[in-house]
Amino acid sequence: MKDVVSTIGLDLVSGADPHEVMLRLVAVACQHTGADRCTLTSLDQDVLRVEASYQPGGAPAFIGREFPMTYLDDQPLLRSAVETRRIVTGGSLAEGGRIDPQLQASLEEMHHTAIVPLPLGTRVGGVLIFSRRADQRFEMTELDEMQQLGILAVLALRNARLVEDVRRAQARGLETLLLMTQFVATSEDAADFFGKMSETVAGLVEAHRAVFWHIADGRLEPHPRAFGFTQVALAKMRLRVPAPGDDALAELVYAGAALRHTVAEGGAGPVMDGLLRELGLRDQLAVPWRTAAGPIGVLAAYDSRRGFTTQDEWIMRLAARASALVWQGFEAQQRVRRLESDERTRLQAHASRMADLERQKSEFLQLASHELRTPITLVTGYLSMLEDQTLGELPAAAANIVPLLSSRMTQMNDLVDRLLTASRMEDASPPPDLAEVRVDQLVADVVHSVDGTGPRPRRVIMGATGEVMVRADAEKVETIVGNLVSNAIKYSPDGGDVRVQVSEEPGWVAIAVTDEGVGIAESDLTKLFQPFSRIDTGAASEVMGTGLGLYLSRNLALLQGGDIFVESRPGEGSTFTLRLPRSLREAAGGNR
Ligand code: ADP
Repeated sequence: MKDVVSTIGLDLVSGADPHEVMLRLVAVACQHTGADRCTLTSLDQDVLRVEASYQPGGAPAFIGREFPMTYLDDQPLLRSAVETRRIVTGGSLAEGGRIDPQLQASLEEMHHTAIVPLPLGTRVGGVLIFSRRADQRFEMTELDEMQQLGILAVLALRNARLVEDVRRAQARGLETLLLMTQFVATSEDAADFFGKMSETVAGLVEAHRAVFWHIADGRLEPHPRAFGFTQVALAKMRLRVPAPGDDALAELVYAGAALRHTVAEGGAGPVMDGLLRELGLRDQLAVPWRTAAGPIGVLAAYDSRRGFTTQDEWIMRLAARASALVWQGFEAQQRVRRLESDERTRLQAHASRMADLERQKSEFLQLASHELRTPITLVTGYLSMLEDQTLGELPAAAANIVPLLSSRMTQMNDLVDRLLTASRMEDASPPPDLAEVRVDQLVADVVHSVDGTGPRPRRVIMGATGEVMVRADAEKVETIVGNLVSNAIKYSPDGGDVRVQVSEEPGWVAIAVTDEGVGIAESDLTKLFQPFSRIDTGAASEVMGTGLGLYLSRNLALLQGGDIFVESRPGEGSTFTLRLPRSLREAAGGNR
């Protein structure tokens, strides 16, 4: 007997397949007791199943066959063993009752039977049946051994149940995770997800109701998409969260201890117990719903169909943990949305403030330049009268100064002109006055008028490919080219040639102004076209200017569908190129 115990004992602890263990057990038991057949049958609540059977030299019989519990009514011997919970002996099992015709032959060949009931908890969870063909009753000593073998069989049966439970729990766990991933993918928002999830949790633990309780402002509140609750019930379900350590509900929320109890016995603390009674619920299984950062709430199921088990708790914890991750995801999404909308509002406010400043600035510019115009015109008038001696002869010293004053007044007039144009441009750009322009001619005229006006003489060389026509606003082109050429001269303090080249490109006309002047550092190129931006050019830093010329020129070019491009090397010179589309239509589809 010792050998039998150690063989089966080893089997049980080694984690072998529980069915293998049961088969080996019946084989060893049969051989040891000299029986002709030994069968292990389990009794569930509603089914009787043959788990393992052995007869020397024969194949295991009936394994996996299931019979309804009512089968016991036709089996007085079996029934007596189950009811008395004592070992019973008798003749063939085929005697004295109605027998399944398929079993008849194999039962009839045995003449003596001993049935050992196997207690599992408070009930009989199975029986070990020994049968003998020979007409020889089982003796006391044999029955003693059977009783001992029964203890092993109980362990084997319990082992099988546990393994089965674990497998089932694993399968349910996987199912839970799978469903959750599906929900995450298919849910439109958090409410949708928690709605589906509550229903699924209820299904997984076979409960009639399930709910995510959420902690908000120190209260536990049910998620509105709870499963199995009426709106009236949900409206009642608002609980003050107890202080840590206060009661079982506090333990659940703060310490992560699950609650599993019937409402009759209570155990969730006075607040929760009271509510559950008021709602007429039967039992509760509640697990903490929390992230690494702390508690979010509680996931709970109510009114179990078959009583909540530790497995159900395990499944619920799994569902709560995964839901916490999903919840965090939704929260993060919402936070990003909030930030985005805050940022949008901030940017809008900033933009409108900037627009306001812009408007004030251009109003001021318009006003200032307008007011300056009158005195400048006046002074210029008097200066020219002084110059041509209409007001009488001037002393030699004064006569020398007048041309200088006149030239300064021209500069001032120029400045005021630009300020006015710039402020008007920011207000509303005047539409271009487009016409067919012979641009080579126009550029030559500009070059001619600018050439020689600078403080130092230098050559301005004009090159053109012949007659070049473009659809443009002649006055604006004149202003742009005038600016580019006078800049080329201004920013070449050491002299050097200025070349102006008019050329044709597919769809475009290009007017390039190249100087051999101070040049511009690459990092300064982006500043060039901004209003009032002047670059510290070292050698040319004495040069007078407003920082408006290029800004105006570029805007005038854009108005006609063109643009200005610049290439430059500090110390070597620059090329500013005005490109104009041959027609506005080409500007839209043209290449640059
Ligand atoms: P302004 O000449 O009145 O200062 P612009 O808008 O015409 O204003 O030019 C802006 C700045 O660009 C100038 O201050 C100058 O530093 C730089 N710049 C313009 N043209 C040239 C050039 N041909 N060579 C070197 N620097 C130039």
